[in-house]
Amino acid sequence: MSQTIYARVSDQLKAAVDEHATRSGQTLASAVADLLDRGLQATADERSIEALEENVRSLQAEVETYEEREKPLVAFAQRTALKVGSCPSCGHDVSGRDLLVDGQCRNCGANLSPLLAPDPKVDKGGLNEGDFKLLLGALGLALAVAFVTQQGGGG
Ligand SMILES: [Zn+2]
Repeated sequence: MSQTIYARVSDQLKAAVDEHATRSGQTLASAVADLLDRGLQATADERSIEALEENVRSLQAEVETYEEREKPLVAFAQRTALKVGSCPSCGHDVSGRDLLVDGQCRNCGANLSPLLAPDPKVDKGGLNEGDFKLLLGALGLALAVAFVTQQGGGG
């Protein structure tokens, strides 16, 4: 089944279609139908390529957002592995993780919580204040990001 389309075209276009029909050995009518069909296909492909490009752009933006959000977490994770002081009992290196997560010296098992005690009488000689403050700063940033991410529904 077929339909007829009447369309007024420029002399230039008519000449070009005639030439195409002659070159491809088609009648003028089937050359026009063929060209229209290809034109529609090209237009559809163009749209789907545009849609794909738009998807890629949006995914790239999403990846960048996640990478940006992860930076403070990565910085905190790296900092927890660094030395923040020495064990008051044996003098072994104490990392942020030893101090805040495990709470004990990995060498002698001594309780490290006195290092965090607010009591000024407790000897804090084993804690490097500067390094510890950097660790707390990284922790604060990681927590703030986690909080904001949660408030935003994770999206
Ligand atoms: Zn120790």
